[in-house]
Amino acid sequence: MSMEPATSRRIEDGDETTVDARRHRLLAWYDDHARDLPWRCRTDLYGTWISEVMLQQTTVAAVIPRWSAFLQRFPDVHALAAAGEHDVLTAWSGLGYYRRARMLHRAAREVVDRYGGRLPTTHADWRDLPGIGDYTAGAIASIGLGLPTAAVDANVKRVLTRWTCADDGAARDLTAKALQALATNHVPAERPGDWNQALMDLGAGHCRSGEPDCVGCPVLEVCAAGAAGTGRHVPPPPVRETSRPVLLSALVLRRDGRVLLVPSEESVVTRCRGLGRPSRDDVSGLYVGMLGLPTTPWYHAGAADTAKLTAPWRRWLAGRGSGACEVRDRGWVRHAITVYRLQVLVCVADWAGDPDAVTVPGSLWIAGSAADQPISTLARKILQQTSLE
Ligand code: SF4
Repeated sequence: MSMEPATSRRIEDGDETTVDARRHRLLAWYDDHARDLPWRCRTDLYGTWISEVMLQQTTVAAVIPRWSAFLQRFPDVHALAAAGEHDVLTAWSGLGYYRRARMLHRAAREVVDRYGGRLPTTHADWRDLPGIGDYTAGAIASIGLGLPTAAVDANVKRVLTRWTCADDGAARDLTAKALQALATNHVPAERPGDWNQALMDLGAGHCRSGEPDCVGCPVLEVCAAGAAGTGRHVPPPPVRETSRPVLLSALVLRRDGRVLLVPSEESVVTRCRGLGRPSRDDVSGLYVGMLGLPTTPWYHAGAADTAKLTAPWRRWLAGRGSGACEVRDRGWVRHAITVYRLQVLVCVADWAGDPDAVTVPGSLWIAGSAADQPISTLARKILQQTSLE
């Protein structure tokens, strides 16, 4: 194919010669430049499944160490299905989006109940399991089973859009259905798993979001946006939800070298006087089954008033029957959860009273770093900060 600039905004992609050229070039490039990822060395279906679930909404760099540790802890579907949810969430803690772990656990139990522990062998049966969407089913079926199925995530959409659209207007007209058809049309009968992984690697490397690195890209000569030099405008950037700053306080309550953790969805203190109505924003559903530090409700961030965020803890502890308990503020911790930017005032108190007087159902007094507990990244961050005292 010539290197002339694209003359039409959109290349209709029925041309098998172009499709074949992309397959040939990209797979040849993949043979030499594939990323060295641990799950690519372990070729069993179970390992592929765990890696694809972990990679949903989490970076490759964050998943690498966690994937190996998870497989050591739960080496096969029987071990995973037999585990308690507490253990699964503990192994997942720090990866975020904990609903994935709960769904994975449910799916493992379904595989044992429905198939006697044999992992599904069709795309449709994978798609039918909890927590498995079209992308994940396509990735598992192609990589783990060698089936010619497409796996279309945001990176792959970007690459395919650039291959066929020379400008942002054409990219806007490209429907999700057309993208899926385009992806399916490109999957080769031979090496479908390598093909999907090559697309993922291209999207993470040369064809990253923003400014692509078209020089040296293996498919430059069969790419509409690459040939037109318009890659950075294609597809147009998504309209991002603006970040929302919120204010809250967390309590590190200590007793005999232990710290109180409560179920993340539990509200110990329901309001802070003088800060108005709590914000309606609430992500506690993301953390069902996890443990965290007692926290106040969230408030829209305004003036960061430490006295008003500290006072509820004094009132709460005084109401638990042990008289005065000093509450000290230990500064702020910042943390992001989805679109929320949390500014958290850390309060510390030493509790001398009855340990049961401050617990709620599901609470634990834990020692050390809580490495063996399913706790949120925010709680871990605060515990690390206060352990330095
Ligand atoms: S030529 Fe550029 S825009 Fe096209 S696939 Fe390669 S990196 Fe992406």
